[in-house]
Amino acid sequence: MTDNNDNDFAALGLAAPFLAAIAEAGYTTPTPIQKQAIPLVLAGRDLLAAAQTGTGKTAAFTLPALQLLAAHPAHPQRPGRPRALVLTPTRELAAQVAESVRTYGAHTALTSLVVFGGVGINPQIAALKKRVDILVATPGRLLDLVGQRCVDLGGVEILVLDEADRMLDMGFIRDIRKILALLPKKRQNLLFSATFSEEIRALAAGLLDRPAQVEVAPRNTAAELVEQSVYLIGQKQKRELLAWLIKERQWFQALVFTRTKHGANKLAEYLGRHDIEAAAIHGNKSQSARTRALANFKDGSLPVLVATDIAARGLDIEQLPQVVNFELPNVPEDYVHRIGRTGRAGAAGHAISLVAPEEMKLLTAIERLTKRKIARAEAQGFVASVAANGDAANTESPTTDRMRAGGETTVAPKRPTRHKPFNNMPANNGRRAKKRAYQERGK
Ligand code: AMP
Repeated sequence: MTDNNDNDFAALGLAAPFLAAIAEAGYTTPTPIQKQAIPLVLAGRDLLAAAQTGTGKTAAFTLPALQLLAAHPAHPQRPGRPRALVLTPTRELAAQVAESVRTYGAHTALTSLVVFGGVGINPQIAALKKRVDILVATPGRLLDLVGQRCVDLGGVEILVLDEADRMLDMGFIRDIRKILALLPKKRQNLLFSATFSEEIRALAAGLLDRPAQVEVAPRNTAAELVEQSVYLIGQKQKRELLAWLIKERQWFQALVFTRTKHGANKLAEYLGRHDIEAAAIHGNKSQSARTRALANFKDGSLPVLVATDIAARGLDIEQLPQVVNFELPNVPEDYVHRIGRTGRAGAAGHAISLVAPEEMKLLTAIERLTKRKIARAEAQGFVASVAANGDAANTESPTTDRMRAGGETTVAPKRPTRHKPFNNMPANNGRRAKKRAYQERGK
């Protein structure tokens, strides 16, 4: 890092211990959210910030919050009485924020702890017997700990609600209100959200005191940084195409989204049977299994991680090269969140979606939201097996077999064909289907 770059962060008002931590993290310039938010937080303002994961938002609140805490000692300093509380919707995000707190606070004497559900509560209770300056928590487990009188929230000077929109989506509003009631009236509040729904605005109105509002990018900007494409394919043929793509394109680190936990398990097993090492993470997996899979994926020893939306929310993997939507999400905003896992902090990323005919409506909704038509790709050289084609022809709607670019379908032959090339007319396709495809192409 050069002096000049040091000055970029120094110009925001950050002090030497934090500049050192930033240099060690390898950051050279502040991101837009950091440029805007850090001086405001240091000035003691409440903040309403629109920023997604991937924008550098964690450092945007963690760095100034740590600096404010480091600037003066607590009164009184008691164990289990945090001075800053960061609430997050998921365990993964909590773990990541806690890691950032440790990284950015490495040159201070401040202490931190992360607590979330799905793991034993006793080690957390034990840790809360010591001094904890910054507590990062998911709402449910925090309330459990409060109920057991292990945490005293009466000393909170700074409250951060991270990914507040997702917390509301996940039904945490009552827990959040219970927690707010336990906090001192006078405190600094920072609310981060990817979107500003009516609900978020209502929450903000009741929580924030004359907040500064910062918005780094319209919520779909992530979508613009990422190279996106769509493969139109029958549902039953997707897994085969995915395995082919992984091998053919030599993907070494791909995050694959499925709609259901069961689907995630089945897909990971299928890939495993085809010599592609993969693990599934979702809410039914134990925390230790999730942590292990994530660590292996992050360090590059596990090439494919199959995840549901909630499990993957907030995952922060530096320069994740490839995201795959094995199924499109039901909510178009989730597509933007999913592909936001790649192309982060300016790195180039790729997102592909495998789209079955029954998902065309979802694709249209996504294209409307992101205001762009996603390129249709062809897997030249991919040949689906007879079994997959037979499956598709026999068990799915008659239109699932293949689709032409543009999202319309041609009718598949009833009989499974021999090896049919993807996205080409099948060798023995009936004359009527050929004619219809020809007419549609001319439309
Ligand atoms: P976040 O949006 O907080 O999840 O951060 C996304 C990623 O960007 C994380 O891997 C951070 O380590 C990284 N990051 C944060 N700030 C910077 C910066 N100023 N320069 C480069 N990378 C950064």
